[in-house]
Amino acid sequence: MTESGERTLAETTDTISELIGHGLQAMGAWETGWRPVWPDATVALDPVTMTEAIEALTERLTDNYPFFHPDYAAQMLMPPHPVAAAAYAIAQRINPNAHASDGGPATTKLEIEVVDALKTMFGYDPATSLGHLTSSGTIANLEALWVSRELHPDKGIASSRLAHYTHSRMCQLLQMPATAIETDACGRIDLDALEAELRSGRVGTVVATVGSTGLGAVDRVDQIIPLAARYGARVHVDAAYGGYFVLLADGDALSPETARAYRAMREADSIVVDPHKRGLQPYGCGSVFFRDASVGRFYKHDSPYTYFTSAELHLGEISLECSRAGAAAAALWTTMRALPLDAGRGLGPILARTRAAAVRWADLIRASDRLGLVVEPELDLVTFFALPPDGDQRVSTISVLTQRVFDDLMNAPDDPVYLATLKVAPPLLSGMPDLIWDQPEALVFRSVLMKPEHFEAVPGLHARVERGVLEVGS
Ligand SMILES: *Cc1c(COP(=O)(O)O)cnc(C)c1O
Repeated sequence: MTESGERTLAETTDTISELIGHGLQAMGAWETGWRPVWPDATVALDPVTMTEAIEALTERLTDNYPFFHPDYAAQMLMPPHPVAAAAYAIAQRINPNAHASDGGPATTKLEIEVVDALKTMFGYDPATSLGHLTSSGTIANLEALWVSRELHPDKGIASSRLAHYTHSRMCQLLQMPATAIETDACGRIDLDALEAELRSGRVGTVVATVGSTGLGAVDRVDQIIPLAARYGARVHVDAAYGGYFVLLADGDALSPETARAYRAMREADSIVVDPHKRGLQPYGCGSVFFRDASVGRFYKHDSPYTYFTSAELHLGEISLECSRAGAAAAALWTTMRALPLDAGRGLGPILARTRAAAVRWADLIRASDRLGLVVEPELDLVTFFALPPDGDQRVSTISVLTQRVFDDLMNAPDDPVYLATLKVAPPLLSGMPDLIWDQPEALVFRSVLMKPEHFEAVPGLHARVERGVLEVGS
């Protein structure tokens, strides 16, 4: 802690403990209002046993990478915001279930409020659209694809070859055909190839990825929507990672064409975003939205379990999942209260900062003679490769160099740097005509700069990666 009382990132745990202590005290006061009752002997444990179990856990949990730290710039992983972590723990004291409003009247109302705010963020009219939280982006996408199949039972989907693998897997589950469309050199779905597939009449739904998991590429939603409409196809936007960047669509943080894609999302038939990715939430929080609420008819079921407040809509009546953590809605609602969905305050400046980190690193990579960019970052993912110091342009050499630098950086005893790797193939890297493709794919670096602290860390990360390339390559 500094003299002014400012806490380090690691000391965030103190903040969370205080918030949880504060909240649990209030929950305890509420519980005390009910008739006193003592725990049954079967569940009562002595403090030593419980403490010992927790100590055993914390010992095991140290077997992890430092996801909280900006030197961890690898996968889409970071701890939730302290407010979200505390809210989840506090709500979990009640452990509400989002399935039926009887299972948690308070958190059902909180979920409806956050869902309305998310719909509004995307430009949907809360009154005429439908949506809910899910346990994950996988389930959220499954629901959107399932609705697509119900509307176009004899057709399939088309998505980019670089779309998340969940789409082809879920299509298998739903027994609907999935076609992978080639991308352009920026990793976005190729619109000519997409139109050729649409012309075949086989496509009921185009899946546009807004923020691809590998590259952070944003499919041209603004062009896909009129294109799909000409062929009577729906458009589903998988924005599990990138969705929240819609908050920046009206400023200058995104490129004009990326911003246009975001602004067009309001016209899409369905949208998925994962609050557990860029919404500062713990895992267990995805969401799906449908522009037309009438698709709710597909969810209709006849549950043998009766709810005593059945006149109201239960979230379980418009979702495929049954039990779901009400604590997830509590955490998201509390986070949004402290950090609203706003371009100028709350979440907007956090996203702008991570986006600025990516722009900063891309500028350094462009100026480097040891590293090259795979694509211009559209969001806050940066992909790049190591250039062998001896000028060898074979993809196999570049891939081996990348792997060795990756290993060395991660295993550096004093100052490890954690990056991820990604395999890419043409037409990516077609801007590098001297590359010799002596193997089908190139191994490159991938870095997800999803923490605002990455902005300050980028020059140091860049210097360490450059040094790693020089050390391994010479
Ligand atoms: C992460 C991700 C998914 C899968 O979501 P989960 O929450 O991991 O189940 C789907 N699509 C995209 C684009 C993603 O980034």
